[in-house]
Amino acid sequence: MTRIAFIGLGNMGGGMAANQARAGHDVAAFDLSAKALEKAVGAGCVAAGSVAEAVKDAQIVITMLPAGPHVRSVYGDQVLANARKSALLIDCSTIDVDSARAVAEQARAAGFRFADAPVSGGIMAAEAGSLAFMVGCDDADFAAVEAALKPMARAVIHAGGHGAGQAAKICNNMLLGVSMLGTCEAFALAEKLGLAADRFFEIASQSSGQCWSVSTYCPVPGAGPSTPADRGYEGGFATALMLKDLKLAQEAAARAGASTPMGAQAEALYALFDANGFGGKDFSAILQLLRGRISE
Ligand code: NAD
Repeated sequence: MTRIAFIGLGNMGGGMAANQARAGHDVAAFDLSAKALEKAVGAGCVAAGSVAEAVKDAQIVITMLPAGPHVRSVYGDQVLANARKSALLIDCSTIDVDSARAVAEQARAAGFRFADAPVSGGIMAAEAGSLAFMVGCDDADFAAVEAALKPMARAVIHAGGHGAGQAAKICNNMLLGVSMLGTCEAFALAEKLGLAADRFFEIASQSSGQCWSVSTYCPVPGAGPSTPADRGYEGGFATALMLKDLKLAQEAAARAGASTPMGAQAEALYALFDANGFGGKDFSAILQLLRGRISE
């Protein structure tokens, strides 16, 4: 049994902390939201009154917070000042690469081991313990990070040094945003050309246009395997979260001097879709924008 502090018990963190408790670990949980904390206690965690209280005896600290500023503040102001130096610190939030590297440097200077370990997979994968983790940490620390993440994971991959996990996450999600838009555009054109969606699905999923957005996550209802499209685009991966990741990718590209014209176009289209009130819909719903049926 390991003593784990889990900070941030929202849509993702709630299920992840529950899986650590289910694996038999002693989980001290904290969230600013009393409701989220109550749910975690129902799942076997012990409520802490503050970040400081949660981390003070922890061997492992895991955070799952909204964005870079939250992570900088929780580590800078609270975790580093109150955790034991021997504690392994793992941030699973999706944040900008610069914040991940800055927090890693602060942690290293204070004598801690730190990893950025963002995830692929949504709320259902968080609950099922089947997330894929992309880890940025020192080589020497990876085995310990992998063991700590195991109860929440189907895969734990070492991406490289500090910040590499976040870099992998935003590059992967930029590719996903672009491939989903290409998929939607192709299905919208097929429709205009009188091609049945299920026929086009069968062909594209076995031809060179094949990709995850076509074969596994088809944006057209009834055309492929069951996806959020078959449930009115509810659940799945929200447009607002895709937009967040595309913005992170564009900010990183600007700082790195990388040319990402497709990523920029994807960000602009998802921003337009979000601004029309569809931020809560699954990101594959952008098909409706490309079909010119945004009100459906
Ligand atoms: P969420 O908003 O549901 O949860 C975040 C939680 O952090 C909230 O409960 C909030 O109260 C808590 N929090 C904020 N500041 C805090 C503080 N100072 N101290 C303690 N608790 C604090 O968000 P989520 O959907 O769980 O996402 C978390 C992270 O995971 C984000 O970075 C997101 O981009 C990433 N992510 C989400 C998904 C998804 O499908 N939801 C998938 C992959 C990655």
